[in-house]
Amino acid sequence: MIGILALQGNFSSHIQILNKLGYDSKLVKSSKDLDNIDGLIIPGGESTTMTKLIAREDRFVKSIKSFSKKHPILGTCAGLILMSKNSFDDKVINFGIIDIESERNAYGRQVHSFDTRLDLDYNSKNTSFMASFIRAPKISKVGKNVQVICNHDGIPVAVKEGMHFATTFHPELQNEALIHQLCFGDG
Ligand code: GLN
Repeated sequence: MIGILALQGNFSSHIQILNKLGYDSKLVKSSKDLDNIDGLIIPGGESTTMTKLIAREDRFVKSIKSFSKKHPILGTCAGLILMSKNSFDDKVINFGIIDIESERNAYGRQVHSFDTRLDLDYNSKNTSFMASFIRAPKISKVGKNVQVICNHDGIPVAVKEGMHFATTFHPELQNEALIHQLCFGDG
């Protein structure tokens, strides 16, 4: 059973991807919803709004951080921002689940959103897939234990550290299950 943080943002497309992979899903709205799930998706949306909604429950941040010690987490776009060590914005909480720094809205405004084909470079999997970048962040620094699994124009756009994955783009909006499968499947 995979949970999807469902406070704000686009979580329905993630449910479809999990269905496609044959995983049950559950919406996570408070820390008690983290019980009995095997992994968590932090979706895209607005990281500042998500921060406010997470902060409404005192122990939610602590619960997500302790959940991450034992279970895989996938963050897409705003989810990557929240998972970062630092995104240099007081309005955004950083869980520090992946040792990266990120910069919000680094490609510009909504009009600079785009779809593109990316190459995955991970273990023996060399494959390409479509991805949507929507007011996407850029990863500005990658820690030494972080593996970059996709680049776009020489910039890392998908990373893995331990069991956790994060992407600056939305694979789910292209009905693309590959990253979810790497995170929650057998890799
Ligand atoms: N620009 C948003 C933010 O800073 C992220 C956009 C997205 O998740 N598609 O939170």
